[in-house]
Amino acid sequence: MSAKPPFAHVAIIGLGLIGSSIARAVRDAMPDVKLSGFDADATARATARNLGLADAIADSAADAVVEADLVIFCVPVGAMGKAAADLRSGLKAEALISDVGSSKANVLAELQAALPDHAIIPAHPVAGTERSGPEAGFATLFQNRWCILTPPEGAQSDHVDRLTRFWQMLGANVDLMDPQHHDLVLAVTSHLPHLIAYTIVGTASDLESVTRSEVIKYSAGGFRDFTRIAASDPTMWRDVFLSNKDAVLEMLQRFSEDLTALQRAIRWGDGDALFDLFTRTRAIRRSIIEEGQDDARPDFGRSPS
Ligand code: NAP
Repeated sequence: MSAKPPFAHVAIIGLGLIGSSIARAVRDAMPDVKLSGFDADATARATARNLGLADAIADSAADAVVEADLVIFCVPVGAMGKAAADLRSGLKAEALISDVGSSKANVLAELQAALPDHAIIPAHPVAGTERSGPEAGFATLFQNRWCILTPPEGAQSDHVDRLTRFWQMLGANVDLMDPQHHDLVLAVTSHLPHLIAYTIVGTASDLESVTRSEVIKYSAGGFRDFTRIAASDPTMWRDVFLSNKDAVLEMLQRFSEDLTALQRAIRWGDGDALFDLFTRTRAIRRSIIEEGQDDARPDFGRSPS
């Protein structure tokens, strides 16, 4: 017998990659749970209706949440405060508020300012792709991925327990973290790599002495992986860098110092320094594969051969 769902009615605000994936995963894992949704984009709402993503796709955020006992904001982090203020009038007093934003301290502050009387437990499923929109989602996105909850001080343990069970039923492993610590960890594991990818692809496309067609024609595996990351949604990532400014700048400073050290090692022919670093980084890759967080096949199993 499957476990009883921790919420009877879930409302999803923002029906893009993450929101639509949650809707699909809820349908699969908790078929009796009522689902409602809203997206600011009328085309996304129409697509969500055609895909049958929820029992009801409302034309206003307040209408989408009237029955909900869990409301999840799945909008860009810069839009969280406005999205929350827009639906305040429709919320049940006991509805639990959560989100999926990629930065946490700032989002918590925005949600608390917009909904001061509601219980708020922010969350971040560390799962995604470079695609956007309701058609990009899929039900298995969260399987065996981490979802980090960042409950504010004084959060009720019952709320944390129910949200933990919700994400576990969607297939995720759940961890609890302080919002500031989350922001520092994700700055180095996710935000900085995106910034580097955007920079490298931008640099290559700006080189006067190398044509754009050469960049595309001779793109080696390393560059191709960067282009995949650099194809990520511009709105989402603009907001992440503005919202997690302090942690990203701190990590960027550390990165610049390490890059300068590598530059020096190359200039002075210090092969041992290069070899030592590359050996250490290889071990990290092995650990990620051992923990089931990536594919061990060459090229992540993407090559046709
Ligand atoms: P997405 O595919 O672009 O979907 C976001 C949707 O929210 C868009 O349809 C957008 O409409 C809509 N929206 C914007 N403002 C709104 C508002 N005020 N009210 C209602 N809907 C609104 O984005 P996503 O990739 O699902 O990302 C959603 C959130 O998940 C972000 O906070 C992101 O940081 C987080 N996240 C993303 C990933 C990932 O890999 N993509 C992973 C983990 C967490 P418009 O297009 O008209 O703006």
